[in-house]
Amino acid sequence: MLEDLTIGFLGAGSMAEALVHGLLGAGLTAPDRIWVTNRSNRERLGGFARRFGVHVTPDKAQVVERSHVLVIACKPKDVAGLLAEVGRKTRPGQIALSVAAGISTEALAAGLTPGVQVVRAMPNTSSQIRESATALCGGPGATPEAVAVCRAILGAVGKVVEVPEPLLDAVTGLSGSGPAYVYAMVEALVEAGVRAGLPREVSHDLAVQTVLGAARMLVETREDPAVLRQKVTSPGGTTMAGLQVLSEHGFHEAIVRAVSRAAERSRELG
Ligand code: NAD
Repeated sequence: MLEDLTIGFLGAGSMAEALVHGLLGAGLTAPDRIWVTNRSNRERLGGFARRFGVHVTPDKAQVVERSHVLVIACKPKDVAGLLAEVGRKTRPGQIALSVAAGISTEALAAGLTPGVQVVRAMPNTSSQIRESATALCGGPGATPEAVAVCRAILGAVGKVVEVPEPLLDAVTGLSGSGPAYVYAMVEALVEAGVRAGLPREVSHDLAVQTVLGAARMLVETREDPAVLRQKVTSPGGTTMAGLQVLSEHGFHEAIVRAVSRAAERSRELG
């Protein structure tokens, strides 16, 4: 689907890097189908050219001109400046895929030429290892084909779901911020292991493998997490004793509130 399209990255940061790496690693497109530009860091662009063999240029208008799909991959605070520079150089029918958190498709469309198909996505940091949990939505004028193209691009760095745009704040609270909640839990597990007498390194390795194993059990067995939890919880056993303490300390509710607060914060920032 992507092989006949030229993809231009406006922004050459970690998200652009993850996407280029994912697209080429999955063989979805060839390096000469990718253009990358950024604000001013030529060294960084040189790094993209050397590592991936893609086209790089400081000339943003050239990237806009040559691309069928433009990936808006700069920080949210820089999007307005970027659109002021090259937004009007876009042409009807082009696809603009934004990964900038909190910038609505309406705001994006207002800075682009009428008729550009806008798609907005919220990937997460695990894009770096092609395990992102990404949600996207089509904006004004985006055809199902344009959305499918963007799904294919983001599919190179993980799983993709489609949601209506108002739900992207909830996505931000859950999967956008979610890796940090899991890291916080691993920090606590490691600390707990150390307090229980394990050497830190051993505790770390056990905690990380426990989270990885549990995640893979969820993926591979497709069981409901509640069912898997019950399966490891024998009455009167150790797991039940541990879960009881989590429950007494409001573990479940704390996570529900964290996601809700992060989603609310996303709405405030957006
Ligand atoms: P980053 O700071 O690593 O890179 C930003 C890039 O944008 C830089 O190359 C910078 O030169 C470029 N840029 C800034 N202004 C520009 C302009 N006017 N013209 C052209 N290029 C310009 O940022 P990142 O971590 O790659 O994040 C990029 C976007 O992806 C952000 O909007 C962020 O919300 C979103 N995002 C990132 C992640 C993540 O895990 N990194 C996750 C979800 C969403």
